[in-house]
Amino acid sequence: MTTTPTAPPTDVADRATAGFRHRYGGEPAGRWAAPGRVNLIGEHTDYNEGFVLPFALPLRTVVAAAPRDDERWTVWSELDADPVEFGPAEADRPGRVTGWAAYVAGVVWALRAAGHRVPGARLAVASDVPVGSGLSSSAAVEAAVLAALVELGRLDLPTDRWPRLAQRAENDYVGAPTGIMDQSAVIRGRAGHALFLDCRTEDVQQIPFDLQAAGLAMLVVDSRAPHRHADGEYAARRKSCEQAAEALGVPALRDVDVADLDAALAKLPDDETRRRVRHVVTEDRRVLDTVALLRAGRVGDIGPLLTASHASMRDDFEITVPEVDTAVDAALAAGAYGARMTGGGFGGCVLALVDADRAQAVADAVTAAYAERGFAAPGTRTVLPAGGAARLD
Ligand code: ADP
Ligand code: MG
Repeated sequence: MTTTPTAPPTDVADRATAGFRHRYGGEPAGRWAAPGRVNLIGEHTDYNEGFVLPFALPLRTVVAAAPRDDERWTVWSELDADPVEFGPAEADRPGRVTGWAAYVAGVVWALRAAGHRVPGARLAVASDVPVGSGLSSSAAVEAAVLAALVELGRLDLPTDRWPRLAQRAENDYVGAPTGIMDQSAVIRGRAGHALFLDCRTEDVQQIPFDLQAAGLAMLVVDSRAPHRHADGEYAARRKSCEQAAEALGVPALRDVDVADLDAALAKLPDDETRRRVRHVVTEDRRVLDTVALLRAGRVGDIGPLLTASHASMRDDFEITVPEVDTAVDAALAAGAYGARMTGGGFGGCVLALVDADRAQAVADAVTAAYAERGFAAPGTRTVLPAGGAARLD
């Protein structure tokens, strides 16, 4: 029997192990995985202290790791040729480790800042979560590293406290202002469920979301649109919402009930602010309505809420771009029950709820619409809600 010489393994867990062996020699003590996520519905509601409904994806980041005797951390990722090494001096000063390794150093920092004795470790990271497409590759790295360090160090840290810690790593060490949604979804996600998260109380509830049983599939289209001005626009939306809440005399827009929306809008100074508020208030309602339908087992009926969410983001919140609008329109024309951009906007991914046996036809229709408009070909895949961060073996 002949063996072909070494092509890199295709399985992400095997790639993490192969990376570990190649960089460090020897075997990892274990492998820990965390998924990417998408938000089913509830966009720009998080910082308005409202509701979101993400689910974990079957795409994972895997960390192969082993402890070392000294208090230092070496991390290698497929994203880079060379490993990065740091010690307590760098880990304890946010910003000292930069680039992708900052997401790892940030986790070490957040654990140490919370008083934990973090074991020195060698880590190798492999991932199937696309970077920068809005599927939260960043939270996946944080959660997988956290899972590895907690177990290697036998740290006393229950999983319900992981999301805050991972969020601190990203906010305070890396310096990226994100809410608690991504980390909650990738840590607490459960197969066959979406995670209903109240961003004010941080209360989470597992909501049955069994696409397969309903003969449905969720198509994820990576719009491949360049993120144009996303940071500045995000800050502007956030500011508008905060100013509107102040004008309305409420702590956050979450406190405006959809039944009182017209009265609230009448108190606002200009049309743009009114449309921003209308998006947030109606979007919170759509999340609650989606949760109610899913609880009643009516998965196929959530389509119109997804499509209404998209229209609201396009017309009222003005955060869509031609690529995502094209994907949504093409998916609906090809028979999707509902479709919407997911994520903060100005690019990222589109979700389309489709009959499982129509998924390919809808994906093809989106690809054809892109070609017609002269856009770069989109990425398409179907996903089912998967489980959160866990040890693999
Ligand atoms: P996303 O929407 O994918 O989370 P972000 O900009 O929030 O986009 O995070 C992407 C960053 O996270 C990457 O630029 C990199 O620094 C880090 N990251 C993501 N995946 C990996 C990985 N597999 N290895 C190392 N760093 C990663
Ligand atoms: Mg991210």
